[in-house]
Amino acid sequence: MKLNIQDIFNKELPADPIIENTRRQVTKACFSYVNPKQTLNPSIVHTSSEMMDALGLTEEDTESSSFLKVFTGNKVMQDTKPYAMCYGGHQFGNWAGQLGDGRAINLFEVTHNNKNWALQLKGAGETPYSRTADGLAVLRSSIREYLCSEAMYHLGVPTTRALSLGLSGDQVLRDVLYDGNPGYEKGAIVCRVAESFLRFGNYQIFAARQDTETLKTLVDYTIKHHFSHLGEASKEIYLQFFKEVFDKTLEMLIQWQRVGFVHGVMNTDNMSILGLTIDYGPYGWLEGYDHNWTPNTTDNQFKRYRYGQQLDIGLWNLYQLANALYPLIGEAEGLEAILTTYTTKAQEAYINMMRDKLGLFIQRDEDVALIFDLEEILQLTETDMTIFFRNLSNFYPENSSDGIHVIEDAFYVYDEVSNAIKSRWENWFKNYEERLKKEQVAFEERKEKMNLTNPKYVLRNYMAQLAIDNANKGDYELIDQLFKLLKNPYDEQPENQKWFVKRPEWARHKVGCSMLSCSS
Ligand code: AMP
Ligand code: MG
Repeated sequence: MKLNIQDIFNKELPADPIIENTRRQVTKACFSYVNPKQTLNPSIVHTSSEMMDALGLTEEDTESSSFLKVFTGNKVMQDTKPYAMCYGGHQFGNWAGQLGDGRAINLFEVTHNNKNWALQLKGAGETPYSRTADGLAVLRSSIREYLCSEAMYHLGVPTTRALSLGLSGDQVLRDVLYDGNPGYEKGAIVCRVAESFLRFGNYQIFAARQDTETLKTLVDYTIKHHFSHLGEASKEIYLQFFKEVFDKTLEMLIQWQRVGFVHGVMNTDNMSILGLTIDYGPYGWLEGYDHNWTPNTTDNQFKRYRYGQQLDIGLWNLYQLANALYPLIGEAEGLEAILTTYTTKAQEAYINMMRDKLGLFIQRDEDVALIFDLEEILQLTETDMTIFFRNLSNFYPENSSDGIHVIEDAFYVYDEVSNAIKSRWENWFKNYEERLKKEQVAFEERKEKMNLTNPKYVLRNYMAQLAIDNANKGDYELIDQLFKLLKNPYDEQPENQKWFVKRPEWARHKVGCSMLSCSS
């Protein structure tokens, strides 16, 4: 039986002894017990009140010394045994062997309101899986993970969550640009929360090692705890399990495309078995709509994980998961039958999602051409994705000549919109107007529905960087401001209009805004 979080906090008993975290290849085991590192001067910078509610924690709890100590890794609670998980993964298309939770430590699991949650610290010191790194995280990447995971939740995108953002009080050495210029930064610890942190790579590692026994233990555990509606594990149920992971993964990716989120590192170790967005590293938000964009400078050459390729990579990753499950099933046909449906399903789901963004609520064949045409025109000049779709709901049919003016705020440089491009827009708006006439809903209702699909506020890359710059100087106020703003991304929030603007020019090529590395 899982504990209630209050039970954990109310026990003031000594922690288990420290366990030695020697780095090693861990075989025949899904995880290793490990304790977080004691830190010099811990403090909590921010907590998510929605996440606290979900866990059954109160404001009072956050003020207790236990809260501070537990969620900065300075105290292990009685009856809990923190652990780091073993996983492998394909990184940028190549098998990388054992990776594992190199700087994530699972504290405990709790149940509240019939929901199970695992709580995990990121950046709380080394584990057997730390390889050559230090197991720590810096403030800049921790702010990005903390703000973005809660923002994604409020946008309705499946994601891991965040409970708290803390400072360790220690300094951490990082070479941000990998150019031989390391510097010290503030160390930070995020408490992440999810029903499970299992990844495709957790299964892959045992298949790669031909350890079918441990693979079966883990898959059976996963089905029992997270897919229990499927019933007792069997070959048929393994296939159904795969089918569900397949559906959840696709659904998550469609949601990323909808809001313009680019993950940046879709390695198989960063793919959640529950279809949650996981591991917020060098991610970014599309500003200018561009299928070729990736925020990750480490991926600059081939742009494997660019916006326009995220759905395809989803399929590639699902193939790797299918390969990992194969030893339990023993025949490829069932897995292949599921995988071959991907392209058609992904296209259909994508077109339907785009229909919603355009306010098209009945399905017509001509929609596909209308959508592809739009995607092409959007990329002719730099056009802000968020502003374009949000403002599109103001377009009133019968006014197609007015279309371009409704969306012109989305153009980065109006002068770059040549006459040829203007006539493409005019033509598109004529077609859009014709298409809207076939809908049943009136202007106001369409606008309302479109505004529930097209967010007004997202965590633009420069916004997170402003919060980081301030926090590095000891001012955490902007973190709170952005956190509150992003709780209601679909609302108008007139007092926050200043965040509904295009990326400022200073941020175009700035490190942390458009250029991000994996250094974190
Ligand atoms: P990521 O690119 O963040 O998904 O990380 C890939 C792998 O590197 C995972 O196994 C991480 O746990 C590990 N890793 C990343 N940063 C660190 C660090 N500072 N210390 C130890 N392991 C790390
Ligand atoms: Mg990762």
